[in-house]
Amino acid sequence: MRDRVRGVKSGGKCVGFVPTMGFLHEGHLSLVRASVRSTDYTVVSIFVNPAQFAPHEDFKDYPRDRERDLELLRSEGVHAVFAPLPDALYPEGHRTYVEVHGLQDRLCGKTRPAFFRGVCTVVLKLFHIVGPDVAFFGQKDAQQSIIIRRMVPELDLDVRIEVCPIVRDDDGLALSSRNAYFDGAQRKAALCLHRSLEMARVKITGGERDAARLIHAIRGDIQAEPRAKIDYVEIVDTKELLPRDTAREGDLIALAVYIDGVRIIDNIII
Ligand code: AMP
Repeated sequence: MRDRVRGVKSGGKCVGFVPTMGFLHEGHLSLVRASVRSTDYTVVSIFVNPAQFAPHEDFKDYPRDRERDLELLRSEGVHAVFAPLPDALYPEGHRTYVEVHGLQDRLCGKTRPAFFRGVCTVVLKLFHIVGPDVAFFGQKDAQQSIIIRRMVPELDLDVRIEVCPIVRDDDGLALSSRNAYFDGAQRKAALCLHRSLEMARVKITGGERDAARLIHAIRGDIQAEPRAKIDYVEIVDTKELLPRDTAREGDLIALAVYIDGVRIIDNIII
């Protein structure tokens, strides 16, 4: 991978990179298209990163379809796919991890304490192996983008980070590989995430700024869905991810909800 990209860069070309865990959908493909459009050479990684799954989480069951992924990437004009085996990135005895203190403990970090350490470690490793000029991430994982954006200058990495908008199905559900776990009824129940965020958006447009009242309204809307169990609903600033008393323009409303035990996330920027 390194040799390939070195060759490309020595020809003066700009290299774009899209890290994914595969089982690709239109959300991933929007990042791929952004890269193909704005760079000369696009690399996509497919790697279900064991370091970001807790022992009780779905690492083994995470949906995978390598052939279909490769077919999709081929038809998007991707130049190279990097799909290492877990042992190649984490050989026996691996000991080195990257942490972004504070930020990694908030929002999703409360229920997934080792998650962002796993994400940052693999993203840094992939950046070192691929050596891209630009890397593309999705706003769907808002906290992840914020943490990566923080890590890059703090570790003096020479890569530009682009964050692309959330891609949703027609009914508003944010696309996610984990939506594959849902049957019809569960998928319908999962619409409560987007619905509650849109309801909050309407309240904000109407002048409501009190974070506690907005969160209360969002929680009430989600709790009306019997299959849903809230992990968190928070309104935070996008630098330190700290809770706001009063919501401001540019703040993040983020939530995580279990639908019959499957944890999904969504967010909006005010
Ligand atoms: P994943 O395969 O879940 O690790 O996601 C790989 C990249 O795709 C991450 O940067 C995600 O934020 C992004 N992504 C996933 N779902 C969406 C979506 N619905 N819209 C935009 N980007 C997404």
